[in-house]
Amino acid sequence: METSTSRIQRHLEQLAEYTATPGQGTTRMSYSEQDKQARDYLKQEMTALGLHVREDAIGNIYGRLEGQQPDLPAVIIGSHFDSVPHGGAFDGPAGIVTGLDVVARIREQNLTPKYPLEVIALVEEEGTSFGRGLMASSVITGLIGTKELHQLKDRQGVSAAERMAAAGFNADKASEAVLDPKKVKAFLELHIEQGPVLEQANEDVGIVETIVGISQLEIKLTGKAGHAGTTPMNMRADALVCASRIISQIPKLAEAAGDNTVATVGRLAVLPNGANVIPSEVTFSVDIRSKNDEALRKVIAQIMALTEQESTEAGIGSDIIQPLYVQPTELNSEIHTLMQEHASAQKLRFRSMVSGAGHDTMIFAQITQTGLIFVPSRNGLSHHPDEWTDYAQIARGVDVMFETVKSLIEC
Ligand SMILES: [Zn+2]
Repeated sequence: METSTSRIQRHLEQLAEYTATPGQGTTRMSYSEQDKQARDYLKQEMTALGLHVREDAIGNIYGRLEGQQPDLPAVIIGSHFDSVPHGGAFDGPAGIVTGLDVVARIREQNLTPKYPLEVIALVEEEGTSFGRGLMASSVITGLIGTKELHQLKDRQGVSAAERMAAAGFNADKASEAVLDPKKVKAFLELHIEQGPVLEQANEDVGIVETIVGISQLEIKLTGKAGHAGTTPMNMRADALVCASRIISQIPKLAEAAGDNTVATVGRLAVLPNGANVIPSEVTFSVDIRSKNDEALRKVIAQIMALTEQESTEAGIGSDIIQPLYVQPTELNSEIHTLMQEHASAQKLRFRSMVSGAGHDTMIFAQITQTGLIFVPSRNGLSHHPDEWTDYAQIARGVDVMFETVKSLIEC
């Protein structure tokens, strides 16, 4: 009999084959040729497990195991199967394979669930193709719909709706993909940690209690260009010097806010960007995350005030936009407790933790109770070809997930 670990390995190795960049990590864009290959494989494996397979209007795949009482709401378990360019084989697929393995265990043990169970394989989560992260789960939960799918475009200027149509799906019927919250009992996801905490603590699983709130700011400073040799220091309006004053103070604002609040300036554009020209315009991004909404809002307000103060003092214009703000998401405490009990019963080393990255779970939390399990990432690495989690470690996460699913579907 095939073990859980070898099943997980077989699925993940097979899915890793469906990449546009063989030998250089997983590159699987939604609605691409590799998406089609992974899709066909997942449908085939779901069918082999005796699941009833369907695809919704935008291409999410569902495999349903009927419950003894089919009218009861379903427990949904899964994750996404798109990737970033040159990403890894685990971010996303690990959660879908978890769903498949939970069903395989139910079959092996001849269990008959009272509630229906659905394995879901979601399209577009990364936001690489159309610049909108968590796109599929946002459609499913009704946060965005047909209009946005026509507006969102990839780098070639082709809309998400057009890419869907070419792959045989229909953005104009996106409303049909929206789930009725009354028909969903819970959403469960297993994901790689994408950070170093579990590995360094030598722990098996992390049980997520909160997903951080995230905000992004885009700050533009406008000074005056001038010759680097002929403009005296006291007659300059140097946008980059002003930006560096602001940026250098951001880390201590995040630290002072507490609750492991973090802030990162990851992108900086300097104009005209010449070695002998005083920078006239600088635009930079600030990514701020916290599990505490108050701390998050406080840091945002402080960065705005700091920008105002520093730019006014330097005689420089400033403009701030906030393209993203998502509140912290508390996951369901009963499911969290259930997962802790099962991890503890199995004598696993586990911790309750905060997710610093966004996941589909946080979107599903708007319509149903949710649970999220992390497994260790080697060297904390993710979105990289060397992303890795031992198959046996994923199987330990599945152990907890399987017992949790059994409790929820009552079998
Ligand atoms: Zn992911």
